[in-house]
Amino acid sequence: MGKAGFRGGVHPPTFKEATRDVDTTRAPLPERIVLPMSQHLGAPCIPTVAVGERVARGQVVGDIDAMVSAPIHSPVNGEVTAVGTCITPGGTRGASVEVAPDADQDFASFVPLADAEDPRDIVRAAGIVGLGGAAFPSHVKLRPPHDMPVGVVILNGCECEPFLTCDDRLMRERPQRVVAGARHIRDMVGAARIIIGIEDNKPEAIASISAEAGEDVEVLVLPTNYPQGAEKQLIWATLGKEVPHGKLPAATGALVHNVGTAAAIADAIELKKPLMERIVTVTGAVARPANYLALLGTPLATLVAQSGGLIGDVDRVIAGGPMTGAALADLSVPLVKGTSGVVGLERGVAAPAVNDDQACIRCGRCSRACPMSLEPFAIGIHANRGDWDGSERFMALDCIECGCCSFVCPTRRPLVQLIRRAKGALMQRGSRS
Ligand code: SF4
Ligand code: SF4
Repeated sequence: MGKAGFRGGVHPPTFKEATRDVDTTRAPLPERIVLPMSQHLGAPCIPTVAVGERVARGQVVGDIDAMVSAPIHSPVNGEVTAVGTCITPGGTRGASVEVAPDADQDFASFVPLADAEDPRDIVRAAGIVGLGGAAFPSHVKLRPPHDMPVGVVILNGCECEPFLTCDDRLMRERPQRVVAGARHIRDMVGAARIIIGIEDNKPEAIASISAEAGEDVEVLVLPTNYPQGAEKQLIWATLGKEVPHGKLPAATGALVHNVGTAAAIADAIELKKPLMERIVTVTGAVARPANYLALLGTPLATLVAQSGGLIGDVDRVIAGGPMTGAALADLSVPLVKGTSGVVGLERGVAAPAVNDDQACIRCGRCSRACPMSLEPFAIGIHANRGDWDGSERFMALDCIECGCCSFVCPTRRPLVQLIRRAKGALMQRGSRS
């Protein structure tokens, strides 16, 4: 069932070989931990600690009384050395808390989360957000609208972005956590079914998750296709249901979470463990590509150095994958909850540089590749002129920013950048998709 795939999409080279068979190791303790107060979609947290204060691993250092938000915890025992601002991997500046870690750390212990009657309150207290990159607070997704009951929980184990293997390693190394998390999610939302979707280029992950899954968990092997892991595309690929224009995915009766998010939810509910670290793939133009279990707040430069530094003719370093990630201006920015990868791209590899000056030749490739059935060239032309109404007419707000259009464009038009600009302008003026 559900193997028909979705409309459009592309097949970029995966570049996963360098890290897919390398065991995850713990990243070194950095000299300083910098914790942005906004590592999620929604309201930024407000620092709850002061300079000079001692903090313990697992202690809350930032929170806010807002529905769409997630608290921030110190991943180390140490002392607060600054409460100020920092730049995030996404390039925005915001409030932050800096901690100098003690030289000796016991990573097995932490300040446990308080118990709660409703497990969704534990998920909120743990600060869990979508770890696939979206960083939407998970406790909000676990409270779908009353008129949209969830029948199926879908776990996204596709990891369709080139270069990234952190989800693959998690599924191979900690399958019981992933499956346990899926069951917790099912029970919290009252769903009847669990489907874990994994692309067919991850046979070991399919085997390890299948070995853990009982009769109540369906493991669905999906053909490799980018952007299969996008929420709407995954619902289509698994259930054959289309998310109606302008509606939430919950309108289909499906709730999608990333496999890493599910594992974090299991750790929060069963071990009372806050989200303080994550697996991150460091690969591409580095000497020793690897997956690390790294503390949130670790400077990305520390991770790149642990991998032997950048090598070759490096064009740019991306936080995330090359299709949807953000180019980094500075490697000193910290690892945040949504950072799945740090990828050094050599000139001309994977995502060729865009060319602002080239005109569209109306070849139609971008439209054929668009999984949302949009006309990216038309949105791009309007966005380039600052014509937001025109961009809206061509449904710019439906764009999931997958980057397929930019990937196939023979003249290297900066399509996804133009569309992102139009979306930002439209959202600012309050348009709705
Ligand atoms: S227009 Fe948006 S959804 Fe369509 S291919 Fe481009 S980035 Fe993806
Ligand atoms: S792929 Fe590029 S050149 Fe072709 S229609 Fe789209 S924007 Fe124009």
